[in-house]
Amino acid sequence: MNTAAVKPWFRPPPAVKVQHVAVVGAGIAGAATAFALAARGIHVTVLEENQPATAASGNRQGLLYAKISPHNTAQTELLLAGYRFSRQLLTQTLPLEYWQTCGVLHLNHNERETERNRQLAARFPNHDLYQAVNAEEAGELAGIELDIGGLWWHQGAWIHPPSWVNTLLTHPNIRVIAHARVRTLEIKENGWDVVYQLTENNEACTLHASHVVVCAGINSNRFQPFTDWTLHPIRGQTTTANSGELAKKLRCALSGESYISPSWQNKVCFGATFLPQNNDNHLHLDDETHNWQTLARLHLALAHDIQAASQHTIRPQGHAAVRCDAFDHLPIVGVAGNAAAMRRVYARLASDKNYRINDDCPYWNGLYVNTAHGSRGLATAPICGEAIACAILGLPSPLSMRLQTALHPNRLIIRGITHH
Ligand SMILES: Cc1cc2nc3c(=O)[nH]c(=O)nc-3n(C[C@H](O)[C@H](O)[C@H](O)COP(=O)(O)OP(=O)(O)OC[C@H]3O[C@@H](n4cnc5c(N)ncnc54)[C@H](O)[C@@H]3O)c2cc1C
Repeated sequence: MNTAAVKPWFRPPPAVKVQHVAVVGAGIAGAATAFALAARGIHVTVLEENQPATAASGNRQGLLYAKISPHNTAQTELLLAGYRFSRQLLTQTLPLEYWQTCGVLHLNHNERETERNRQLAARFPNHDLYQAVNAEEAGELAGIELDIGGLWWHQGAWIHPPSWVNTLLTHPNIRVIAHARVRTLEIKENGWDVVYQLTENNEACTLHASHVVVCAGINSNRFQPFTDWTLHPIRGQTTTANSGELAKKLRCALSGESYISPSWQNKVCFGATFLPQNNDNHLHLDDETHNWQTLARLHLALAHDIQAASQHTIRPQGHAAVRCDAFDHLPIVGVAGNAAAMRRVYARLASDKNYRINDDCPYWNGLYVNTAHGSRGLATAPICGEAIACAILGLPSPLSMRLQTALHPNRLIIRGITHH
């Protein structure tokens, strides 16, 4: 990072010699971070409180797409860079049985989306990633009749995220300890003690590592030293149902108010619900009903076809989990500052947020975070894992300097000071 003109709390701390890295959490963020380090010869231990990919990354068919705005925001830049990165990593790592470049159609399903898609198409008319299509063209691409057009992302894909996570974790330099709940992270003279508990027999254990990367999704603030971080939960549930004859013809993913994937192993996946400030990760019938209703609005004939093919059951079928979001809807990625010490060093910002302070930031040396990927983790978490590996190893980052500061964990702490 070019450190000139960078706020002191965004300047990187001195490097710590890498010996062994502990990653907390085995969702896509943890798996991609561990893989990026392991691919460079670093030994990594991943601690997961359940089995890998059973929380937010446990969906049956997630979409890899970049729902960008027509404006040059940090989020748009991250999504475009992350989308390309994830596509490439998928091609290199995951067998084609578990994902497919089906293309994603972002339909003009309301005035706002129509205008967004129009602006995007006008802004980059020959963009290599997407093109505007009318209803007839959209229908030909989808393999079923559609009465609206949209934006066609021909490289968009569906993925079975659990297969991707588990495949990344099979790297020989990665060891996974499942059913290991991290309780606290304790700084020592020569690194970190990761104190965890085996959930099957309550045995308390400690792992020593030179570096720790916290990738625990919505639970990333459940243990020290991050317990005063504010993370926002967003509950989501997808529905899985049998494909009828029409659904089997669907060739691409459709995205509007909700999304539906093409059929895989004779089943389709659709949804998802979006319930902010809700921490419940159980399947609920209300959410399933909502998913059927939004599917009917997305494509009525498809909803009838799938309903007719699905066995009637009183238990909802699908996956429910909690997404993790930050106040500004950007991921939290990078080395972590010591919040209590930062509050002392940068206390003057409480009365004047523009007060000029140049004191070095008190960091937790060797402690990193990769979390808060919201609804787009398949596009954002892998590139952020790569960025963490590069930061730990002192290599050039795949993220621009604008993105490194926009995603920096210390923005949460500084915001806490300036907003009291
Ligand atoms: C219903 C639904 C549909 C979605 N659809 C899409 C989609 O189509 N496309 C897309 O890009 N994104 C989608 N998302 C969002 C995407 O799934 C997430 O952004 C992504 O999975 C986040 O990955 P993660 O690794 O940060 O978190 P998680 O997958 O939640 O992983 C965190 C892991 O940390 C573990 N953990 C937590 N605390 C501890 C602890 N103390 N000790 C040890 N382990 C711990 C958890 O058990 C968990 O396995 C969807 C999300 C949901 C809920």
